[in-house]
Amino acid sequence: MQNDLLTELGRSLLGSSLDDERLMTQTGEPPAVQILPEANVIKIGGQSIIDRGRVALFPLIEEIVENLGSHKMIIGTGAGTRARHAYSVALDLGLPTGVLSVLGTFVSMQNARMLNYLLAKHGIPFIEPAQFAQLPHYLAERGAVIFFGMPPYVYWHANPSVGRIPPNRTDTGCYLVSEVLGARSMIFVKDERGLYTADPKKDRNAKFIPAITVAELEQLDLQDVVVERSVLELMQNATHQRTIQVINGLERGNLTRALNGEHVGTIISAD
Ligand code: ADP
Ligand code: MG
Repeated sequence: MQNDLLTELGRSLLGSSLDDERLMTQTGEPPAVQILPEANVIKIGGQSIIDRGRVALFPLIEEIVENLGSHKMIIGTGAGTRARHAYSVALDLGLPTGVLSVLGTFVSMQNARMLNYLLAKHGIPFIEPAQFAQLPHYLAERGAVIFFGMPPYVYWHANPSVGRIPPNRTDTGCYLVSEVLGARSMIFVKDERGLYTADPKKDRNAKFIPAITVAELEQLDLQDVVVERSVLELMQNATHQRTIQVINGLERGNLTRALNGEHVGTIISAD
């Protein structure tokens, strides 16, 4: 290819090191495209929602169906208790993080399949990562799709700094889908009102935090938080999804309110 047909950035990228910091700054200059700016990514918790069975899931499914005409929804599933059991057996057997990641993927896929069959009569498909290219079509035709929340790192999953549990699990996988697609919102549906100063299941004095930035959250240095810590890390370099909301999916109406743009749970923002 003739060099004078290339953009200025194109010429620089061909001729310089990809470690050149000035050049890397330039790569961020072209305005980023929001691929699906009207889609909402919704993560349905594994342990917090799906493991509870019909009492938790059926009202939520009703709400999803009610919103089909008005909101586009990309629905990811958590893994939950069965993944923890699989991890414990695999750890006992001495298996590495990459293999644990494979196992977690299958459990979140089980949950996605169950949700898929429950929503089947509304024509909502389940898609695997290889089918993400068809996602825009399904979303335009049916208004929602279901995927498994685990990021498909499988064997290639990086080790955590401590221990062997895959650090990037279903919260992270769902969050990354919302970031790459430039989605309208990222809503985590769990079983608590949102973020507290401590796990409200273990500390009765835990205080609810309606809104907080990632930097403030780091300052608080909480012992435990309501989303995977890797989500908070990824948010700091996010182009599109610089805000997430965590809501209580056990309360009917919260999902609809969040989809309508209301502040119902905790909003965590990167800025
Ligand atoms: P999921 O089902 O999506 O995997 P998790 O069970 O991993 O969700 O995370 C949600 C849980 O996190 C809540 O049920 C709550 O008990 C716990 N949790 C831990 N720390 C906090 C905190 N600081 N604020 C709120 N919830 C917390
Ligand atoms: Mg979890």
